[in-house]
Amino acid sequence: MTYVYVNVSLPTREGTAMAFELSAEHETFRKVVREFADTEIAPHSARWDRDHHLPVDVVRQLGELGVFGLTTPEEYGGSGGDFTSLCVAIEEIGRVDQSLGITVEAAVGLGINPILSYGTEDQKQRWLPDLAAGRALAGFGLTEPASGSDAGATATRAVLDGGEWVIDGTKQFITNSGTEITSCVTVTARTATAEDGLAEVSAIIVPSGTPGFTVEPAYDKLGWHASDTHPLTFTGCRVPEDHLLGERGKGFAQFLATLDDGRIAIAALALGCVRAMLEQSVAYAGERTAFGVPIGSKQGVAFQIADLKVMADAARLLVYQAAALRDAGRPHVEVKQAASVAKLYATEAAVTATRIATQVHGGYGFMEEYPVARFYRDAKILEIGEGTSEIQRLLIARSLGLPVE
Ligand SMILES: Cc1cc2nc3c(=O)[nH]c(=O)nc-3n(C[C@H](O)[C@H](O)[C@H](O)COP(=O)(O)OP(=O)(O)OC[C@H]3O[C@@H](n4cnc5c(N)ncnc54)[C@H](O)[C@@H]3O)c2cc1C
Repeated sequence: MTYVYVNVSLPTREGTAMAFELSAEHETFRKVVREFADTEIAPHSARWDRDHHLPVDVVRQLGELGVFGLTTPEEYGGSGGDFTSLCVAIEEIGRVDQSLGITVEAAVGLGINPILSYGTEDQKQRWLPDLAAGRALAGFGLTEPASGSDAGATATRAVLDGGEWVIDGTKQFITNSGTEITSCVTVTARTATAEDGLAEVSAIIVPSGTPGFTVEPAYDKLGWHASDTHPLTFTGCRVPEDHLLGERGKGFAQFLATLDDGRIAIAALALGCVRAMLEQSVAYAGERTAFGVPIGSKQGVAFQIADLKVMADAARLLVYQAAALRDAGRPHVEVKQAASVAKLYATEAAVTATRIATQVHGGYGFMEEYPVARFYRDAKILEIGEGTSEIQRLLIARSLGLPVE
């Protein structure tokens, strides 16, 4: 299936006008995911969040719906679709449940994507069919206790010994790394130090259950309660030499490229959040009365909701423009800049939108009985994960040619 982002000519009284819309196939697919999200996810999200429970059965059902295999070619068990369709799926899932939205985003963007982009034929055949079907999840371990934004400062080491990589180190905040269906985690590690002192960083696939690879207890997080996040430790962890992913010494560069796609996808997750806040605020402002009238008849409330509509529309255009550039195979610098612009705007809009929606809901907005409370807790991480807002501003400034350090 091939999807395109289309400029649609709309008939008007005077002639025609251009509008920016997704293709009919994308919109049909959106309806399928939305229906699943509304019936199979939304009614249970509050409970999963309260219980800190990732519903693996729902992950499998999303796999059967084709969500995890959207960007994987058919020969590896996917449907060979485009990146835009992945964004549509993440937006719709994120509109009802940010934890499941990030589970899908990380599974494809961080789990499947690096193996698809840099894996050998054997690695693709081994890992992708289960990942694309949602029968398995994979994580990517870049962040460490002392290196997040400065991801090149990886301290984890891997040395070759008797045809095996021996890995020692610690990874931090790794999504999808400890679920009952996690099949592997790809980690970055120093595999040598050059004479100038610079680290040679490579990526290595570590199968779950490998001796010396420990998934530490899950974090107690502010939000994304139903998403799986763990610290990982590697102590003399041995994997065969052919578990190297891509070229030796290119691990950091590979990961940076992986993050460009991830940023578009996480911006789609933020867009889902903004839309949820808009829809819930419109509904509440029409029902709730104060001083004998619906609160939506007060300009102080209505104007805040008008701002949510502006945020949703702007975020949508930026997300799908970035996805369209990526699908069209436009130059990397162009896609990279568009990804950072979309990520920065959509995630900051999501944080603002949850604050506004909570305010519109008054005291009820602070109660877990209303989903806005959960979205309020979930939104903050959007400005941090896969590159903070500051890092996005840094990348955008550099792309403009500014000599920012
Ligand atoms: C729930 C969750 C899930 C995650 N999942 C994964 C995962 O699956 N895999 C993975 O590898 N990582 C993951 N991460 C890690 C995430 O990508 C990092 O937390 C993020 O990149 C920031 O790194 P840090 O936490 O070390 O913050 P730091 O890098 O220490 O940043 C602290 C502050 O300093 C600012 N700062 C740093 N450098 C600069 C600079 N040059 N200019 C201006 N400001 C700067 C930052 O913007 C931030 O405000 C996850 C994190 C969380 C919380």
